[in-house]
Amino acid sequence: MKHSHLAHEVETTTKKSPESSPEEEIVRNATPLNIKPATPYTLKAPVEADGFSWPSVGTHKRADETTEEEQQRVDRIASAVKTILEEVGEDVTREGLLDTPQRYAKAMLYFTKGYHTNIRDDVLKNAVFEEDHDEMVIVRDIEIYSLCEHHLVPFYGKVHIGYIPNKKVIGLSKLARLAEMYARRLQVQERLSKQIAMALQAILKPLGVAVVIEATHMCMVSRGVQKTGSLTQTSSMLGVFRAHKTREEFLTLLNRQR
Ligand SMILES: [Zn+2]
Repeated sequence: MKHSHLAHEVETTTKKSPESSPEEEIVRNATPLNIKPATPYTLKAPVEADGFSWPSVGTHKRADETTEEEQQRVDRIASAVKTILEEVGEDVTREGLLDTPQRYAKAMLYFTKGYHTNIRDDVLKNAVFEEDHDEMVIVRDIEIYSLCEHHLVPFYGKVHIGYIPNKKVIGLSKLARLAEMYARRLQVQERLSKQIAMALQAILKPLGVAVVIEATHMCMVSRGVQKTGSLTQTSSMLGVFRAHKTREEFLTLLNRQR
């Protein structure tokens, strides 16, 4: 039974479907040599001309859609959620689940709203100021809720951001908005750390940026090894924070404030 199922899968992945676009074709026939690189973002500018930051394939469509088109998107996601509910063996007609597909679809769009957040209009809002300050600025404990792109389950925790200005500073609340924007995408924690750091580096051109994230991954703590309370820590250090002394100063300041 298992084998025939597998054979069927292999067949469908290589068969050409008349509706599929050329891009889909490449993805379906992916081998380790021709798949898209996992981190093309490091080669692209963090802020594009239209204000989007590392837009994904559907970013512009989502940003420009009408209320009606948005509802159609919700309906499409909801119908997929209904399939999931049926496949796990649930009764989709029982009262508690009646509105779940629509509710989940809307929640999913909220969890991924960072894809079409405009970094200039929605995040910065002209909150970059000239200031003769060249000491380390640290904002600790910014709460983030994100989705692990490997399991589509949440990971959540705290982001700590530090930077040393070079004549430009940013409104402190904007650092939280920046973290929120990248957290509301399908993520891996390492990339989230790096995207926040790279964006800040591009926006302020400071002497350096440091981003540390401590997070709990539901895919880790709720299945398999079940290591409840295990924290994953990642960091991204740019500019002067790559030097041992500055990095140590930042980490010491972070720990002292606890
Ligand atoms: Zn995961």
